[in-house]
Amino acid sequence: MKALVYYGTKDLRYEEFPESQLKRSEVRIQVKFSAICHTDFNEYANGPLYVSATPHPRTGRSVPLVLGHEFSGEVVEVAADVTRLKTGDRVTVNAVDCCRQCELCRRGLGAQCSVAALIGFGRDGGYAESAVVPADCCHILRPNVSYRAGALVEPLSVALHSLRRAKVEAGSRAAVIGGGAIGLCTLQALRACGVLDVYVVEKSSAKQRYAEELGATEFIHTERADPRQVILERTNGMGVDVAFECVGSGPALETALSVTRPGGTVCLSGLLPRPIEFNWNNVLSKEKTITTTIAYNDEFPMVIAMLNGGSMNAEGLITRTLPLREALDTLTHFEEWGSTNIRTMIDMSA
Ligand SMILES: [Zn+2]
Ligand SMILES: [Zn+2]
Repeated sequence: MKALVYYGTKDLRYEEFPESQLKRSEVRIQVKFSAICHTDFNEYANGPLYVSATPHPRTGRSVPLVLGHEFSGEVVEVAADVTRLKTGDRVTVNAVDCCRQCELCRRGLGAQCSVAALIGFGRDGGYAESAVVPADCCHILRPNVSYRAGALVEPLSVALHSLRRAKVEAGSRAAVIGGGAIGLCTLQALRACGVLDVYVVEKSSAKQRYAEELGATEFIHTERADPRQVILERTNGMGVDVAFECVGSGPALETALSVTRPGGTVCLSGLLPRPIEFNWNNVLSKEKTITTTIAYNDEFPMVIAMLNGGSMNAEGLITRTLPLREALDTLTHFEEWGSTNIRTMIDMSA
């Protein structure tokens, strides 16, 4: 099969790759759509980060490895012991292949499992014509959820998980710092969960149209306005109940803290590239809660239901669609697309 295969730093190849044999409890998926994520560019440019340089403790996989962790497809083969899925099922894939046996897994915290293999990093992923994945990672798409939308259940689940971590309540007010893919997914999750107002703070005006179409109350362009001033004006001088830091930078965290009301919550959704310092007394004296989020646990069925019912909209995140043979060039030049790209989709049938 044709695949995008990762060999190491700045070495990603579009080539013929052998299909894996099905093992116990696994299924083979004919991939329909795969979304290109910044994490993959980071792996290409600065990795191996998530891909194991040595064989993964559970899967034994290392480079060369097929990347891709946001994808959907049709089940075309099932192992003899799989009863929950059958050929022809339309599915999307939860990328966290956890052990399902340790204490953390049994408590529903699979993303924290110490031997979890991330599909597309710790085992072969979805930048290929087909993928072999554990049946337990597959979620059936409801009738109104297209394969295109199905490939975006993963980043939307990241966003929904962050709302649950931040204990967001219907009727509250929120700010999203950063209007990239995760910021816009967070905006959608906030809307779907009945949040009253969502302010999106972003430095690139190219994201304004997407943020407004996806339901932002107001897009605050950091070069034109001071987010703190605008948000305090709109909230009777109080600030929002909850702010999501979706950039991964010290200044963005400062902004998130500065627009959050006393007693409110700031959720760190973006990975910080380096340690940062800030004044904890500003957090303590205002009794602000700082929470963190990574990946997702059981959010996939909820996101599929929200897409099915129309309270989330995957199409609004898609900026381009291209065939697999053109994806290598796009992925390796990802940063050049930065300001105009939300999600580029690979159409495997093209
Ligand atoms: Zn991703
Ligand atoms: Zn585990």
